[in-house]
Amino acid sequence: MPGSHKLGDGMDRTEIIEKQKILLEKIADADMVLIGIGEEFNESFGDIGKFPRLMSALEEVDINQTLEWTVPFLEHRFLIEHNDGNLIEAYRTLYELVKDKNYFVITTCIDENIKKAAFDEERIVEPCGNYRMFQCSAKCTSELYPSRAFSDLVNQAILDGVGLDSLDAPTCPVCGKTLAFNNILCESNYLEDGYQVQWGRYTKWLQMTLNKKLCILELGVEMNLPNIIRWPFEKVAFYNQKASFFRINGSLYQLTEELSSKGVSISENAVDFLLECREGLT
Ligand SMILES: [Zn+2]
Repeated sequence: MPGSHKLGDGMDRTEIIEKQKILLEKIADADMVLIGIGEEFNESFGDIGKFPRLMSALEEVDINQTLEWTVPFLEHRFLIEHNDGNLIEAYRTLYELVKDKNYFVITTCIDENIKKAAFDEERIVEPCGNYRMFQCSAKCTSELYPSRAFSDLVNQAILDGVGLDSLDAPTCPVCGKTLAFNNILCESNYLEDGYQVQWGRYTKWLQMTLNKKLCILELGVEMNLPNIIRWPFEKVAFYNQKASFFRINGSLYQLTEELSSKGVSISENAVDFLLECREGLT
């Protein structure tokens, strides 16, 4: 629509700076800060081209389809080695904003990029899993197995140039089917045991927010898994009389009517918004 530049491409600068100010004030004033991180933070693997070893391994997979099983391991290796870029800068800014606060983070990301900022891991729950543990891809047992040693083996094969076809996929010690990373990419076989300890901490923490000044930050959360962050956060905001609620999102920034009085909607991609806050902080 010509002439309406605000449609679809967010708010203008003045409006954003105004809302940044409100956000900083609310965080400073809060007793507790609840943070939800969603789809806008998902790793895109766009920088994988900066890792020639991984690129040539992926070419090997292209030529030999039976090596398809190694792709998640190559992605995991990228996640281990890739320590810069906008996404991680955004997490570092977020950390600076809340580091002195009693915060808790719930994220649907499985890439663990958030842990590259200095967040306390005991204050993060990842209900969609991550790459740390293996599970049986057929879910024959609820046992989880550390993944790092095998991941290193894949890396060694690439480093030595012996080729990925020198490796066999890791298998379940119980049924012999392949092992998979314990995350939602397992779809209906995803074993939810992996995050239960942190989930317990999270629900306990939430109970303590009841009469506290709670600042809720919903960052880039879309509608793929609304029952993990979006809906529960709306409910928490609704029932807590002292809550403030920020929904920062490039496309799904609208607030429900019930929240319009205590909510602030910021129609910008949450990663970009945090990067702009960083400029404001320095
Ligand atoms: Zn099994």
